[in-house]
Order: sequence, then C-alpha cells, then structure tokens
Amino acid sequence: MFDEFPEGAEADVSPVRELKPALFRGWKRRCPQCGKGPLMKSYLKVRDTCPVCGEDLHHHRADDGPAYLTILIVGHIMAPSIIWAFTVFRPEPMVLATTFTVGCVALSLFLLPRLKGAIVGFQWAKQMHGFGG
Ligand SMILES: [Zn+2]
Repeated sequence: MFDEFPEGAEADVSPVRELKPALFRGWKRRCPQCGKGPLMKSYLKVRDTCPVCGEDLHHHRADDGPAYLTILIVGHIMAPSIIWAFTVFRPEPMVLATTFTVGCVALSLFLLPRLKGAIVGFQWAKQMHGFGG
C-alpha cells in the first residue's frame, strides 16, 4: 500500500563518504574531500571552500565541540599526571604549577585545531548541515 518511494520520486542516492579518512584528513587540518587543500585559513577559522578541489566547507557547525573534547582529553591526561608527579617526585609547588600550566596550555593549543578539523571531517562524512546537498 505504501511504497518506500512513491512513483515519480527518486531515492536520495548521495555518495557514501568514508568516515575514517575524513576524520584523519580533518585531524591533519586538510580538506575532508581531497585531503590536499588546507582546511583552516588561520588558527581555527575554517575556509569557505577548499582551494584545491572547491568543496564547500562553510556548512560546518563545530561550535563548542572541539573545546569540549579538548577539555575532556587534556583533563583526563593532566589530572592523573599531576597526582603521579606530586606523589613520585614531590617537586616545589611553583615548579609543579608552572610545569603543568605550560603543559595544559601547550596540549590544548595542539589539540584544539586538530579536533576542530576532525569534527568538520565527521560532519562532512555524515553529510550533516548541508554537506551532502
Ligand atoms: Zn579539497
């Protein structure tokens, strides 16, 4: 009685996009489509289109996702590390605070653009927010 696709309507046959290569290309801050064009035009600003293949990248909506993942990862690495360093080495408080402040900032600055690229790659692979259209 109810056909999956009524007569005259066409199924959405958008091409399947591989998730793992898209995530990896995004992590490397490259275009998820071609893997060659730079994804970012500054530290965190995503280009509107890929300069190599022309893929539209302005559809991305990473929002707070990269910051959330960065805090999650850095916190889970640094919290046990500071307890371990304190119990094993017993450093001076200023040495411990300085070391872990620099470590947290450096790791956060390293992870943030890579996780943003991976999230853009995820959205591209899953054809979210207009990436499939
Ligand atoms: Zn590209």
